[in-house]
Formats: sequence, structure tokens, C-alpha cells
Amino acid sequence: MTYDADAIVIGAGLAGLVAATELTDAGKRVIIVDQEPEQTLGGQAWRSFGGLFFVNSPEQRRLRIKDSYELALQDWMGSAGFDREEDHWPRKWAEAYVDFAAGEKRSWLHAQGMRWFPIVGWAERGGSLATGHGNSVPRFHITWGTGLGVVEPFVRRAREAEQKGLLSFRFRHRVTSLGTNGGIVDSVEGEVLEPSNVKRSEPSSRVVASSFILRAQVIVVCSGGMGANHDLVRKNWPKRLGEAPKRLISGVPDHVDGLMLGISEQSGAHLINCDRMWHYVEGVHNWNPIWSRHAIRILPGPSSLWFDANGNRLPAPCLPGFDTLATLSHIMKTGYDYSWFILNETIVKKEFTLSGSEQNPDFTSKSWRQVLKRATGGIPSPVKAFLDKGEDFIVENNLTDLVRRMNALSGDNLIDEQKLHAQIAARDREVENTYTKDAQITAIRGARNYIGDKLVRVVPPHKILDPKHGRLIAVRLNILTRKSLGGIETDLNARVLKQGGEPLPGVYAAGEAAGFGGGGVHGYNSLEGTFLGGCIFSGRIAGRAAAKVV
Ligand SMILES: Cc1cc2nc3c(=O)[nH]c(=O)nc-3n(C[C@H](O)[C@H](O)[C@H](O)COP(=O)(O)OP(=O)(O)OC[C@H]3O[C@@H](n4cnc5c(N)ncnc54)[C@H](O)[C@@H]3O)c2cc1C
Repeated sequence: MTYDADAIVIGAGLAGLVAATELTDAGKRVIIVDQEPEQTLGGQAWRSFGGLFFVNSPEQRRLRIKDSYELALQDWMGSAGFDREEDHWPRKWAEAYVDFAAGEKRSWLHAQGMRWFPIVGWAERGGSLATGHGNSVPRFHITWGTGLGVVEPFVRRAREAEQKGLLSFRFRHRVTSLGTNGGIVDSVEGEVLEPSNVKRSEPSSRVVASSFILRAQVIVVCSGGMGANHDLVRKNWPKRLGEAPKRLISGVPDHVDGLMLGISEQSGAHLINCDRMWHYVEGVHNWNPIWSRHAIRILPGPSSLWFDANGNRLPAPCLPGFDTLATLSHIMKTGYDYSWFILNETIVKKEFTLSGSEQNPDFTSKSWRQVLKRATGGIPSPVKAFLDKGEDFIVENNLTDLVRRMNALSGDNLIDEQKLHAQIAARDREVENTYTKDAQITAIRGARNYIGDKLVRVVPPHKILDPKHGRLIAVRLNILTRKSLGGIETDLNARVLKQGGEPLPGVYAAGEAAGFGGGGVHGYNSLEGTFLGGCIFSGRIAGRAAAKVV
């Protein structure tokens, strides 16, 4: 049997690049196939915000955040809520991943040139009990250079390997099946798509120009999740999150089509936990879209007031930035698939961050001057662009006009001004007192105990309706698809497993396609910043393990 390479990696995203470069570092010959054109090299990670989950990092210690493996594991397990027989490997991956995040992860990436913003973010704060979901402490480390900064070292290593003749890319190669020889998977077959000169992450043509077959001793599946394939998302939508939303917008490019999951299953891979997914409830239509139904997620600070479509304030723990899936489930139970933030200009200046490398030009271009302007300047320009041009944003001088336009935008006419005013005024009354029974005000005060939040993220509690804090803003929030938490079941060596637990000979999987490790390292919930790291960790394991057998 002649092989085209020692290993074929399917997918030139972060997981694929990490797996491939670990293989080439071991002297193995690798082909990376990807359905997209070369300009989309790096996949979703290039578009990402670049937030990474580290435990007990120097950045945390400098800010007097006390973190530890034990606390992080408690948070991870409380969030994951593993409760299924097939959680055997995901649970082991979770233990190993938290250990990596508390140990070698940062130094390994640092040695490759990555750096992080000194103020650590506090994502998914939870809002329930100590054993429940959420980060007890800030752990979201923004990579200097955002997603580009995360991808860059691995692209560099891949290009070096390419120059040495160890690695070659086959772009516009779309895998449609895995081929087996004597029970061992040893080939990938598919279609060569016509050349495409679309810009990065834009949808590319699916016109087939020819076909291909490539053989190798090992195949590593790193094809990403299913977030752009709304039919697949709806098919796997779990009842526990309510009915699948009628309207969904996409937080991921079109190539995140999930089709490789079915192709892997047809070849014998066991898919698990596909009903576990991580979609956000703070989605807004991008006024300047790159991919189909392009949604941007607002990463909110804790002060905006959150109302459902009927104008009822959301209960704790459904507070901005606290518990993504509890909020999603709450919203879907209202019978509507959207909700509202109400805030003012003081809050929008400091508390709205938009996810994505292109929405954070200051961090992405590594400009200290621009980043410092966030803390001292007015409304950041990407946020200002949404206030001016975003179809989901309404800015008005008074509540009467705000409500009129909210009703016009939704077309549902469900917001009653008097009822809305009464709730905001009641909340505002609670701000006057050092003590309060309003869980959101307690949460804001708790957040401001953290110096990082106080400096750059959370405004002092104040009355939303106080005109001193600027015009009123309403934002219609839509549900946006993002990550698949389940996928191909793998053991701790990233070997793909068949139903029943036996390895599928010749196949490894990593990244989002493998549920970021094991077929679902997150269980039901993420602590955030855990996806890029999950791709790095599982890609590294897959590449190293595969290198040992070829
Ligand atoms: C806007 C945005 C912000 C984000 N921010 C963060 C963050 O701050 N922190 C964090 O941890 N995570 C974040 N994420 C999530 C993270 O970026 C992704 O989960 C991760 O990059 C997935 O990497 P991957 O390599 O598994 O898959 P992908 O990046 O999706 O790459 C898979 C590749 O496989 C190719 N492919 C698929 N099927 C086939 C096939 N049949 N044949 C050939 N090729 C195929 C695709 O074209 C693609 O290039 C963000 C994501 C987005 C979109």
C-alpha cells in the first residue's frame, strides 16, 4: 500500500493546525485538507475573541485573584453536570483539561510567543450555589492579538513544516467519506471545489470541479462543530432548553456545517452528546455581515436590565454574563425567541464588549494606546457603529419613545410602558440603599469588589432612568448559534471510539468535532474561554498520539 502521507488532518482550523504541527514536529508527513480556500486558514479561531481559560495564572495572581486546580475543578464539574453513561471519557477529559489549564497550558503557549492582556475577565459568573454553574473567580484571559494571536504560532509552525516538505495543504478539498481497508480507516475521499477568491470567512462556492482520494496510516478529524447548520442544530435541540427557536442567527461562518460528524458516524465513529450546545442569548444582527445571518454576541457587564418579550424582568440567575443556558431556557419558555436589554449611555460605554477579532481592533492590532482609550474614552467605535447602524439598537431621550420603537421593531406590541417603567423605577429605588434585595444590584456590587471589573468593566450602581447617565438604549437580543458541546467520542489519546467503546482503527479526532475532547468535555455548560483551549489541548494530544503509531 502506498500512502500519500503519514497522516491526513481534516480541517485547517485551530485543532487541525495544532494536531498537524505536533505530527510534523515528530518528523511525520502530513496533508491538511480543508473545504475552504487558503484565505480562511485558521477557521473560526481567527475570527474569535481569543479568550483563554487559565487557572492560577500570573495575571490572576497580580490582581489578587486566588485560584486553584481544586476550585477550578469544582466550578468545571458544577457547570458540566455530567450525568450520563457516555460521560465516562468527557469526565476524564475534563479532569485532564483543568489540570492542563492550571499547569502547562500557559507556559507552553507563552514559549510560542503568545501574550495576554493583564486584566482578567470574569465570564459566566454563575449566580447559583458554590457547587452549581459558573466561575467563582475571573479566568477569561484575552490574548494579545485576539484570535489572530492564538492562531499565529500554529500557522507559523505549519508554514515552517511546509517549507521543510513535511506538510502540504489541500484547500477546496471537501471530504465526503472515509475509506476502510481491512477494517482500518486509511483514506479520505471527496470533492475538489472550484477555486474561490472570497474574503476570509465569507461563504465560498460549493460547485464541484473534480474528485479526490488520499491515503494515510492515520486520519485526524478536526472539522469543527455544526453551528452554521441550523437544520442540524434544530434536529439536535434538547427539550430541556424549551422549543427550538424559530429564528436563529449565526455566530459562526458557513463552513461550520457539521456534515463531517455524520460522515464520521457512517464510518463507525460514535457520536455522543450532540444535544449539548452552547448558544448565546445576546445576539445582534451584524450591520456589516461577513457570513450568512451573521450574528455578533454582546459580552455584557452586569448592569443592563434584562426583559423578556412580554416586558417582564428576567429573574436571577438570568443576569447579563451570569448563566447562558439558564437564560436561554428561560427565554424559550416565554414562547418568544428574543429578549431586551435596557440600559443607558453610561453603561454602554463601559459594559458592552462585542465578541470577534474584527470587533476589537484595539486588541487585535495590539495597540496599547487604543486599548487604554476603552477605559478613558467614550463609547468604543465598534459599539458606536452598532448604536448608529445596528437594526437591533434603539437610542432615545425618553422611555415613551423607546417603548414605541421597541414595539415597532418587534412587531409584537407586547411592551407596556407603565409596566416597564414600574419595574425600572423599583430597581432604581433599591440603588439608593447600601442594602438591597435586588440580586442584580448585589451582583454589581460583588463584581466591583474585583479591581479588574471596577477599572474597566462595571459601572457604579446608579439609577438607569437618571438623565445624567445619558440617553436610554434598548437592544433586541436574538439567539445566536455558536458551539457544539458534543461530538465524536474519543478516549484520552484522542482515538475515535465506536459504539461499545472499541477504538475505530486509524482515526483520531480533536477540537469542536470531538466536543473539544472526549465527545463533550464541557458537559452541559462552559466556563468560557474553554473552546480555543480545548482545541489546543485535544489537538496536541491527537497529534502526539498519532505520531507514535505511524
Ligand atoms: C466570533 C467567535 C468568537 C469566539 N471567541 C472565542 C473565545 O474568545 N474563546 C474561546 O475559547 N472560543 C471562542 N470561539 C470558539 C472557537 O473559536 C472555536 O470553537 C474553535 O476555533 C473551533 O476550532 P476547530 O479547529 O475545532 O474548528 P473550525 O475552526 O471550525 O475548523 C474546522 C475546519 O474544518 C473544515 N471542514 C469542515 N468539514 C470539512 C469537510 N467535510 N472537508 C474538509 N474540510 C472540512 C472547515 O472548513 C474548517 O476550516 C469563538 C468563535 C467565534 C466564531
